[in-house]
Amino acid sequence: VLRLESVRKTYGRGTVVLRDVDLTVAPHTVTALIGTSGSGKSTLLRCANLLEEIDDGAIFLDGAEITDPRVDPDAVRRRIGVVFQAYNLFPHLTVLDNITLAPRRVHGVPRAEAEQRAHELLARLGLDGRAHEYPDRLSGGQQQRVAIVRALAGRPRLLLLDEITAALDPELVGEVLGVVRDLKAEGMTMVLATHEMGFAREVADQVCFLDGGVVLERGTPEEVFGDPRQDRTRQFLQRII
Ligand code: ATP
Ligand code: MG
Repeated sequence: VLRLESVRKTYGRGTVVLRDVDLTVAPHTVTALIGTSGSGKSTLLRCANLLEEIDDGAIFLDGAEITDPRVDPDAVRRRIGVVFQAYNLFPHLTVLDNITLAPRRVHGVPRAEAEQRAHELLARLGLDGRAHEYPDRLSGGQQQRVAIVRALAGRPRLLLLDEITAALDPELVGEVLGVVRDLKAEGMTMVLATHEMGFAREVADQVCFLDGGVVLERGTPEEVFGDPRQDRTRQFLQRII
C-alpha cells in the first residue's frame, strides 16, 4: 500500500531528520514505529501524508509515486486518514459536523449519505447518541474516537496514527487501543507511531525502530522485542519497558 524508498528529510539548514529510510507497508498490515523522542517517527508520518516535502527519495501509494511534483497533494491526502496526538476536533462544530465536513466539502458526498456513514461509524466505535454533542462535552478518549471516525469517513486506503493515546489519561487509553485492534481485525492498513510497547507488540505485524532518523532495526514484534540485534534497540527497550 505504502512504500518509502531512500527517503531523506532535512529541516532548515541541514538538520537531517530522516536518512535513507526504506519502508514497505503491505495491505492489511499494521506497522509500528518506535524509537526515542526526536527519532523521526512523526516526521515520517507527515512525509507519508505529504505534509512535509522530502529532500530525496520517493514515496509510493498503491504503486504510484506521490512525491512526483505533478501529483495533487490533496488527492493523495483524501486516500490517507490521519489521527494525531491531540485530537484536533473543531470545537465549534458538533461531532457529526466534524466528521462530515471533509466528505461533504472535499469529496462532494451528499449530506444525507455523509451523515449516514458518520452514524454507522459512530455506532461501530461505541459513540451512538453523541452525534449532536460538541467536542468539549466528551471525554478525551471519546474525542479521540471521534477523530478516528473522522479519519475513516473518507474510506481511506491507509491510516496514519501518531501517538493517538499520548494525551489521554491512562484509564482512557484502553478504549482507543481497542478501536485500533478492531480496525486491524477488519483489515485496515495502518502505520502508527507509539510509545505503548505492549500494544505495539500485540497489534503490529512489523515493528520499525527509528534511531536518529535511521531505521535501525525492523522485523516482527517477536524479533524486535524478543531478540533485538542492535545494542541501541536493546538499550531503548530496557529503558522503557
Ligand atoms: P516524539 O516521540 O517526541 O514524538 P518523533 O520521533 O516523532 O518524537 P519528530 O517529531 O519526527 O520525532 O522529530 C524529529 C526531529 O526533527 C527532532 O529533532 C525535531 O526537533 C525535528 N523537527 C521536527 N519538526 C521540525 C520542524 N518543523 N522544524 C525543525 N525541526 C523539526
Ligand atoms: Mg512524534
